Amino acid sequence: STPTAIMVATGKGASQGVLIKGGNALEKAHKVNTVVFDKTGTLTVGKPKVVSAILFTRISMEEFCNTTIAVEANSEHPIAKAVVEYAKNRLPNHKTQTTNGFTVKEFKVEPGAGVGCKVGPKTVLIGNKRLMRSFNVPIGHEVENYFTDNENLARTCVLVAIDGTIVGAVAVTDPVKPEAASVVSYLRSMNIRSIMVTGDNWSTATAIAKEIGIENVFAETDPLGKAEKIKELQAKGMVVAMVGDGINDSPALVAANVGMAIGAGTDVAIEAADVVLIKSDLEDVITAIDLSKKTIFRIH
Ligand code: ADP
Ligand code: MG
Repeated sequence: STPTAIMVATGKGASQGVLIKGGNALEKAHKVNTVVFDKTGTLTVGKPKVVSAILFTRISMEEFCNTTIAVEANSEHPIAKAVVEYAKNRLPNHKTQTTNGFTVKEFKVEPGAGVGCKVGPKTVLIGNKRLMRSFNVPIGHEVENYFTDNENLARTCVLVAIDGTIVGAVAVTDPVKPEAASVVSYLRSMNIRSIMVTGDNWSTATAIAKEIGIENVFAETDPLGKAEKIKELQAKGMVVAMVGDGINDSPALVAANVGMAIGAGTDVAIEAADVVLIKSDLEDVITAIDLSKKTIFRIH
């Protein structure tokens, strides 16, 4: 009977590292014809590294590093971890340095854009251009040039502003998962289209999509924007699976016909999803769809 087939399939999935929350998800997955992938932590490894840094004003590297450490230590974003690690390495005596004047207050996350807070008497913003624009921080030529150079190399630039002026930036690379390209091409052979949706900027997103073989990209989208994109695709008649790892993906995971969370992702994403890819391996997107197809075939 139907419940038995579903139980068997759910058990089989679990043994393969694909956790399917209930028969409903399993039944819906076989109809999927579009898979929307988040970028950072989903298509990419999610362990970004800072590969370059630049100061635009007369701020000392010491103050720049102390400020970024103080702020980003409050964020769980993988980019924040990379920034902290880099800054600590630039300050060999970090542990013995006084943190006086680097007390963080009013820390706030701007989803898909960055973070902001008070550090001592100063207002600090760390994030992308969108964050800077929304706080009316001017982006000068030097900054634009640094962006162009790095984004063409598929790197993400992170800007640091103090009291309304961009004082420096770092560039981050996050390698693509080794299986990403083959999963996308296999999905294509199953007549399933792949789309990238990301909060990151257009140039970096496009460069990474190209590397993987994804033709459709939506960049610079905030968490609600990601969910909107899913709804737009559904309105066009597509049956959509969303694959994501972050808090910022949870509205989209809920909006999708089937939400799939990366096992290594945040608890919020895992809770929002219908399917959890325990091994964080993108091949399991195919495993889940296959399992659903086989089960449905058996039921009907
Ligand atoms: P994705 O959708 O690819 O997972 P996110 O939505 O998490 O990306 O983040 C989008 C962008 O916001 C990042 O590429 C980065 O530029 C910026 N950002 C978010 N959080 C932070 C942070 N803590 N520090 C610096 N930049 C951040
Ligand atoms: Mg992500």
